[in-house]
Amino acid sequence: MSSSVEKHDVVVVGAGIAGLTAALYLARQGLDVLVVSIDLGGQLAQATLIENYPGIEAVKGMDLALRVEKQAKIFGAKIVYGDEVVGIDRLGDGSFILKTRKGRVLRAEAVLLAIGKTPRKMGVPGEDEYFGRGVSYCTICDGPLYRGKNTVVVGLGDQGLEAVLILAGICPRVYYVTPTRLYGDPDLVSRVKGYGNVVVLENHVPVKVVGDGFRVTKLIVKDRLSGVEKELDVEGVFVELGYEAKTGFVRHLVDLNENNEIVVDKLGRTRTPGLFAAGDVTDIPFKQAVISAGEAAKAALALYNYLQRRWGRRVELKGDWRKTGKVKPKKSMRLR
Ligand SMILES: Cc1cc2nc3c(=O)[nH]c(=O)nc-3n(C[C@H](O)[C@H](O)[C@H](O)COP(=O)(O)OP(=O)(O)OC[C@H]3O[C@@H](n4cnc5c(N)ncnc54)[C@H](O)[C@@H]3O)c2cc1C
Repeated sequence: MSSSVEKHDVVVVGAGIAGLTAALYLARQGLDVLVVSIDLGGQLAQATLIENYPGIEAVKGMDLALRVEKQAKIFGAKIVYGDEVVGIDRLGDGSFILKTRKGRVLRAEAVLLAIGKTPRKMGVPGEDEYFGRGVSYCTICDGPLYRGKNTVVVGLGDQGLEAVLILAGICPRVYYVTPTRLYGDPDLVSRVKGYGNVVVLENHVPVKVVGDGFRVTKLIVKDRLSGVEKELDVEGVFVELGYEAKTGFVRHLVDLNENNEIVVDKLGRTRTPGLFAAGDVTDIPFKQAVISAGEAAKAALALYNYLQRRWGRRVELKGDWRKTGKVKPKKSMRLR
């Protein structure tokens, strides 16, 4: 093995609430944990206000992520941002090799995937080039920056309609480009129709984002039925096409459901021993911050026990409640 391979007990992929929570739990058990993530917070970074995270009445999503990150670091978790895991393989001895976009090669005894969900892209020329310079995947976050400017929402269903409503009150003209007929919650549909400055383009798809080299100036769209193209003069393009699980790079090691979500058991185990998953990327229902955090804590404890067994140590359920000595777990309650 080359000396450029970094070795860790555990690599956690993703630093959303699931990855950060897992890192906190794993590091607190004394494991050497590295988190590799494209960004900090994942979807939390887009959540303006979270009002249903137990124990905190209201918190900005990013502030919640920062709090958990701080906690994980206190226990010794190391975190690398701005990099993406693009390949993962299990070696003959049961350990894992991970490769990142920036050329890092990591070896880990176990891996926890917490890669969540990513906004679905339009997939047209100019989209990546103008991301952050007119193209946005979060109308709640970026919409207010486009006050007084013409904008377009490329969207579907309630998510698209809600984005239009955010912009309709602050932009002179808002186009709504949707690949289907206008559909969604009847109340949202009627509110969108009630705005005189909203132009709905049903059965239209985006073709190209055009800019002046610095900022977006137009979106070219096409009528799916007639094939006729139109140029929309806009400075903001808001993409609200849903979220997708980008699990292609692990499909050889896990089972995926029809939504490309990783199938896990109740301990967050995938079909490959030593490879765990938690949070929105899994097939666990209800995509919520508290659920991602809880599932990640559970998977982290199961992973800890997996490593204890792998290293030939005594396996025991690790939980603070046990330290009280008041509750004795039944044999059947012990983690496998
Ligand atoms: C606008 C908005 C508002 C919301 N409001 C609420 C709310 O009020 N209450 C609530 O409970 N929930 C809310 N949610 C849902 C909640 O944010 C998610 O359920 C939760 O954050 C998911 O966390 P996660 O860690 O599983 O995934 P994510 O947050 O998606 O995090 C995944 C992380 O993995 C990283 N990543 C992905 N692929 C790779 C890779 N290959 N290599 C390295 N890193 C990778 C990403 O960059 C990201 O950091 C909201 C979501 C959104 C978008």
